[in-house]
Amino acid sequence: MRFNIGDATVDVVLDLECFALPVPRFMPAADLSELQAQRALLEPDHVDFDGNALLIGMQAMLLRIPGLTILVDTCVGEDKPRPAHPSWNQRRASGFLERLAELGVGPEDVDVVFCTHLHADHIGWNTRLLNGRWVPTFPRARYLVGRRELEYWQSRALAEPGIGHGSFADSVQPLLEAGLVVTVEDGEELAPGITLQPLPGHSPGQMGLHVRRGGEQALFLGDAIHSPVQVFRPEWSSALCTDPDQARTTRRQILECAAEENVLLVPAHFRNCGCARIRREGDGFTPLFGPG
Ligand SMILES: [Zn+2]
Repeated sequence: MRFNIGDATVDVVLDLECFALPVPRFMPAADLSELQAQRALLEPDHVDFDGNALLIGMQAMLLRIPGLTILVDTCVGEDKPRPAHPSWNQRRASGFLERLAELGVGPEDVDVVFCTHLHADHIGWNTRLLNGRWVPTFPRARYLVGRRELEYWQSRALAEPGIGHGSFADSVQPLLEAGLVVTVEDGEELAPGITLQPLPGHSPGQMGLHVRRGGEQALFLGDAIHSPVQVFRPEWSSALCTDPDQARTTRRQILECAAEENVLLVPAHFRNCGCARIRREGDGFTPLFGPG
């Protein structure tokens, strides 16, 4: 799956094709019966109405502009102990690096890994297991992490080493030790036409990439919008959001801006489209899947 933003190309690199999130546990405020009118749009890719579950994909975005290769979020990874989620636990042979190679990108070709936030399903491929040690998967890359996000998870991990499935210890700490982490601030420019945009709520320091190239705009927004159901119901925050009220505010701002300025949204988990445009409809919004 590939799309363009001006002269930038974006490839969706799958790590895990489908992961089901039971609504009562993951998004307790949601009531899917309210979205029956949207059922044809949401099934089968995004919602299992009969199973009362949201369906998401684990996928990285490979963003390339001339001279710079950026990997946005690194999914679940391999070999990581994640007993709470059997499909993540000690995975092998996921094919993720092979799919990157098919796009002409080896681990040493990645210049920047951008972590929108530090949840376990966004940092897994930051590291890989080599001779019993976690080493950086992308040895030449700068790994960019928002300063507030890093400080938050660093202090949580100190107090509670198993937090986030233990992902800070196996997927961030080795990068800090290797000196590859660069902390970044809201509003910084990563490259011409690519700025870092704060998107707090889902996690305290979540950041997106706002890309403006050749008169086109896109926003890589991590988990500010997890599922297309939140386009219809921006008030439905997930149980994983550290600040559900702030997450709602951030989500509404993104949807307003996307509808007003025709910004292509690139969420981390939309299956089989990778991106969506947003159209205003009555008092609310509706997604148009794909680059349009
Ligand atoms: Zn996520």
